[in-house]
Amino acid sequence: MGHAVMNARCLCGAVELTAAPENDEAGVCHCTMCQRWAGGISITRACADLTVVKGDALGVYDSSQWGERGFCRECGSSLFWRAKDGTHSVVAVAAFDGHDGVRLTSEIFYDCKPGYYALANDTKKMTEAETIAFFTGAQDGNHG
Ligand SMILES: [Zn+2]
Ligand SMILES: [Zn+2]
Repeated sequence: MGHAVMNARCLCGAVELTAAPENDEAGVCHCTMCQRWAGGISITRACADLTVVKGDALGVYDSSQWGERGFCRECGSSLFWRAKDGTHSVVAVAAFDGHDGVRLTSEIFYDCKPGYYALANDTKKMTEAETIAFFTGAQDGNHG
């Protein structure tokens, strides 16, 4: 059910990744950390086998006790979030070269969404409390 490995990169190309999306689905995280990290809406795909192919410019921000965020130190692109224990990785949907068949299916931390936009996609929406209950391991308001 996993996908083939796909290429992903930052805006300037100094950081290149490969990862295997787990399915065709993309999701929004509306938590306040993801909003600031992305500078807007954070849309990602859950991936296996996240590998940094070219990473001299890769920065890794230690954003919480359980998560860290990868970005490009040259161009500033937000690239991925991964659990420090290696159990879960998500890659920014737009970092991938292709988007064929991708469907936006979920919005988490929905009650943290700012009021100035609302997506028209038919998504499964979970509040902060529902999100935390769904993802065991996260104990406070942001997944980090
Ligand atoms: Zn870059
Ligand atoms: Zn988030």
